[in-house]
Amino acid sequence: MLQILAATSNQHKIAEFRSAFIPVQEKLQIITFDDIPPFTMPEENGSTFEENAMIKAKAASAFADMPAFADDSGLEVEALDGAPGIYSARYAGDHATDAERIAKLLHELEGKGSRKARFVCAMALAYRGAEVKTFRGIINGTIQTQPRGSQGFGYDPVFVPDGYELSFAELGAEIKEKISHRARALEQLVAFIKAELDSMDDFEFE
Ligand code: IMP
Repeated sequence: MLQILAATSNQHKIAEFRSAFIPVQEKLQIITFDDIPPFTMPEENGSTFEENAMIKAKAASAFADMPAFADDSGLEVEALDGAPGIYSARYAGDHATDAERIAKLLHELEGKGSRKARFVCAMALAYRGAEVKTFRGIINGTIQTQPRGSQGFGYDPVFVPDGYELSFAELGAEIKEKISHRARALEQLVAFIKAELDSMDDFEFE
């Protein structure tokens, strides 16, 4: 069976990837870092989500000698001019916890008029170390004044998606996997791969 490497060590993301790939599971097997020799991801020094996702996907596909995809995602807050954006993971310093990042975000938003925000996910596909395509998914919402819920990760406890009253951390995986920024980017990636698989004998992206 053809194989594709999911270039992330985030187990939450791998679970989301596996469910998104169900439409192609008869032709394509997802490989993770647990299945290949130890690999250190390159530094994410791009200036956009797309650049950072592609840096990871290219390096992983060259190392594993198979198609690879990687995502880069983050939270953009309107009143903070798009911060934390590509710095979402490092917003409160390199070794901070999710709770510390959330505390910093809530502090920065005190007294601001707008609490509008969006999660952005860029999904990059690479083959033999070369860029194939990127896909972008977005979900709009608002930042709550207090964390709520215990599921998910990152900023989930303070993000309420538009059209809902509960935070991502309260809504849980089943709903999040349908509507999240990552789900939306993944949907486009899987549709692209499905079309490629249906139209060619070999997994060549040419
Ligand atoms: P990365 O894509 O792993 O680099 O994610 C960057 C950071 O954005 C994460 O460490 C989280 O803080 C935040 N983030 C990305 N996606 C989500 C999400 O689905 N929920 C909550 N936080 C997220």
